[in-house]
Amino acid sequence: MPSERAASTRYLIRGATLPDGTGTDLLLAGGRIAELGPGLSSAGASVVDAAGLIALPGLVDLHTHLREPGFEQSETILTGSRAAAIGGFTSVFAMANTSPAQDTAGVVEQVLALGEQAGYVTVQPIGAVTVGLAGERLAELGAMAASRARVRVFSDDGFCVSDPLLMRRALEYVKAFDGVVAQHAQEPRLTEKAQMNEGALSGELGLMGWPAVAEESIIARDVLLAEHVGSRLHVCHVSTAGSVDVIRWAKARGINVTAEATPHHLLLTEDLVVGYDARFKVNPPLRRREDVEALRAGLADGTIDIVATDHAPHPVESKDCEWDAAANGMVGLESALSVVHAAVVTGGQLDWSDVARVLSAAPARIGRVDGQGQGLVIGAPAELTLYDPAASRVFGREDLAGKGSNSPYLSMTLPGRVHATFHRGYATVLDGALRPVAEIAAHGENTHG
Ligand SMILES: [Zn+2]
Repeated sequence: MPSERAASTRYLIRGATLPDGTGTDLLLAGGRIAELGPGLSSAGASVVDAAGLIALPGLVDLHTHLREPGFEQSETILTGSRAAAIGGFTSVFAMANTSPAQDTAGVVEQVLALGEQAGYVTVQPIGAVTVGLAGERLAELGAMAASRARVRVFSDDGFCVSDPLLMRRALEYVKAFDGVVAQHAQEPRLTEKAQMNEGALSGELGLMGWPAVAEESIIARDVLLAEHVGSRLHVCHVSTAGSVDVIRWAKARGINVTAEATPHHLLLTEDLVVGYDARFKVNPPLRRREDVEALRAGLADGTIDIVATDHAPHPVESKDCEWDAAANGMVGLESALSVVHAAVVTGGQLDWSDVARVLSAAPARIGRVDGQGQGLVIGAPAELTLYDPAASRVFGREDLAGKGSNSPYLSMTLPGRVHATFHRGYATVLDGALRPVAEIAAHGENTHG
């Protein structure tokens, strides 16, 4: 069906609203935003009616667990890519805690290739900081950076690089190729057997607490190390008010640090633990209302640079069990934009231009990924999402496109809905539904050579 395929590579998006509020048409052709402005001609293009929809640059997630290789019962690169597309993402950074770990050029190249094969989003592998994420010796950072995967983000996420000397060496090493170390800030000795945020509620519930200081002390140490060696540090999933203060101080001092907050830490509080529903068990844990407020304020004033999902799918048996035995983590790709909408847009702390920055431009810049986060301008790669801000839905299992059903939002009412996602000029999602991967693969052969 060559004619159908040819038609599908040109889209006229009619009557969209840009993040700054301007109304426009967008013509996607040749994998780029070919034209932008009112009243564009639809000749030869598939028309997408975008009345009432906001056009956002394709979302970029700096923190995704895709689980492949090794944990394919939880997620695969294909299923995780589908979850990303349905959530409006056009690129995800795949965390290194796979099996084998993403700690060699061979494994990161394998992840890159599987992402290309899936075709829904750009899958950019993150490299492990230490061999096997064991925290004992540095992985082959240079080889991963020089590989076809061009790794620039290194993280042992899931584990903290707690050894200060290893952390220093990693920060020194990545300078050579403009890399960044993304730290999961958790002092391990202070969080042994921890089950939830430490405070009055953990005392009442009789659960071992995860104190804020275990996060804040590592961040304080690491910003000082980053300053000392003149390197780039990124802090994963900041969860406490004190951490926001430390990062604000570091930035004021000129330290090269960036930070992320997850959608769940921006919306949910530790009070949800009361029902012992393991969907609310996550690491770092859900915190107090004051922490949520501090994260929102930090995101609004730029102390927190980005929102990243920490999408962490688990099989049902890992969550459908007693709180103490349950795995940490929540799926987040499919719900991220709606949760950010509910957490910080509805209340006026962020506008849609801010959302474009914290979910696209800034994560692409921090991760140094090509072809992403360039915004909606003529000539930019056709990476975008159309979002319906007026929609509202009770979030359900049918809204999840990955393998994991461990979403904390099931049965909650969330605002908005992703209407369409375009990756490399092709609609991966239309009318809120995934397009067949075979068509995308065929398109890929046609346009990327
Ligand atoms: Zn983590």
